Amino acid sequence: MKAAHRSLHLVALLAAGLALGQSSSAPPPPPPSRAERAAAPSPRSVELKDQKGKVVGTVLLVETPHGLLLRGTLNGLPPGTHAIHFHETGKCEPPFQTAGGHFNPARKAHGMLDPAGPHAGDLPNLVVPKDGKLDFELFAEALTLGDGPNTLLDADGTALVIHAKPDDYRTQPSGDAGERIACGVITR
Ligand code: ZN
Repeated sequence: MKAAHRSLHLVALLAAGLALGQSSSAPPPPPPSRAERAAAPSPRSVELKDQKGKVVGTVLLVETPHGLLLRGTLNGLPPGTHAIHFHETGKCEPPFQTAGGHFNPARKAHGMLDPAGPHAGDLPNLVVPKDGKLDFELFAEALTLGDGPNTLLDADGTALVIHAKPDDYRTQPSGDAGERIACGVITR
């Protein structure tokens, strides 16, 4: 009886092995969208600090097939309308002039209202309410965390900067946005 059971088990194992061999020798091709997702760079979190070094926000940068999605939360910035831009150098030493000008690999003019604009790093203004707390989402079509000229992860990195004033979307070279009140570094 025991011997018969054992041989039955053996047959079952052999059958299972054959089935596995067949399925792994001809795997179905993965759908393209899945392959693209697998190749996409991981999201990056950017910590924004004010000129005194206090953390005033966090922004998650999420790569999509069409550009970069920003998911941010701010706490402690002055109420009102503030410009927000990606700048060309990943260095945030107060008063944040170290971040350089706007990230602009295509050498365009500044601003959505300029026919020769905008910079890749230009973004719509943020409106911070009285309590200083704001959750926001923005989309930056020209930017990527992947390869190519528009990557935020270039040799010297980039910086996400919030300004004291609104961007008027047309004054060169930076929308008359005033002082830089918060900055966060994006580097490899
Ligand atoms: Zn600009």
